[in-house]
Amino acid sequence: MKAAYIEKHGLLGEIKVGDLEPPICKPHEVLVKTAYSALNHLDIFVTAGWPGLKLEFPHILGSDGCGKILEIGSAVQDASVQIGDMITINPGTSCGTCPTCLAGEHNFCKQYSIKGEFFKGTFAEQFTIPAVNILKIPHGFPLNEAAAAPLSYLTAWRMLTTKARVKSGDYVFIQGGSGGVSICALQIAKYFGATVISSTSSEEKAGILKKLGADHVVNYVENPDYPNTVFKDLTQRKGIDIVVDSVGPATFPNSIKMLNSGGRLVTCGATTGPISKINLNAVFWKQLEILGSTMSNQQEFRDVMKLVFEGKLKPVISKEFALSETQEAENYLDSGNHFGKIVLRP
Ligand SMILES: [Zn+2]
Repeated sequence: MKAAYIEKHGLLGEIKVGDLEPPICKPHEVLVKTAYSALNHLDIFVTAGWPGLKLEFPHILGSDGCGKILEIGSAVQDASVQIGDMITINPGTSCGTCPTCLAGEHNFCKQYSIKGEFFKGTFAEQFTIPAVNILKIPHGFPLNEAAAAPLSYLTAWRMLTTKARVKSGDYVFIQGGSGGVSICALQIAKYFGATVISSTSSEEKAGILKKLGADHVVNYVENPDYPNTVFKDLTQRKGIDIVVDSVGPATFPNSIKMLNSGGRLVTCGATTGPISKINLNAVFWKQLEILGSTMSNQQEFRDVMKLVFEGKLKPVISKEFALSETQEAENYLDSGNHFGKIVLRP
């Protein structure tokens, strides 16, 4: 089968497309004929590698994907799973049997992993996935959106609901508003009735963010003093209740500054580096909460995908590439010129 893979770690130029052996369906898994897969920044991090990441090469990239079930493993007990079903996947897998998994906290499992991270991914004509991780796609729902939605939406959902406890009337500020997770966070915050302020770098992106529902957009290039604008003009000197900040050291000091007493900063990444200065006086005096979040459990995945399938949350597709153009697609993601998700079709 055709697949996009790496044979060693390095820059995006290491990504190749060629023929590899199709995956074998293990007893608890299903084998899927890929309709679409979708890119995430994780692909770039996995390609680069990190200390402790030991992959079996060739390693197929890709966390998100959807398609048709070709084969059902012998140990799959769920009778509703049928050959021919069109399904999408929760890319987060766990052991399913430890006390943490049995308590429903799958993303705290010691064996928690993301498809395409430690195990072979979805950028191929076929992939396998544990049957507990699949979700049927309603008839007629666009397949590119079904592939693109899971990782970004489940991440943003856990951040805003379980972690930051968003509610109607909150002021939510989203740093770097045009990224995949940020767009999902904007839609989820609006769904709960929050007032959303996004930051971005261009007027063009600002226009799209407003169309997607952002109440205000600040341009951090033209207005580096945007925390002041947010405080005085946009929140009537109240400050922000929740900041979604996965940018890191470039924005953390401003994020802390903008928060109102009792405010929450929630992060699922640090694209500008792992070390940041924090004003601890602000943290204790304003009684702030700094919340880490990664991926989601199975229930959160199902909760957010229900809203996606009902059309209450709408995946934004930036561009479609062929599987043979995976390297070009990853370069496009890395360039930051995209707005929304990038998908691949085999
Ligand atoms: Zn477990």
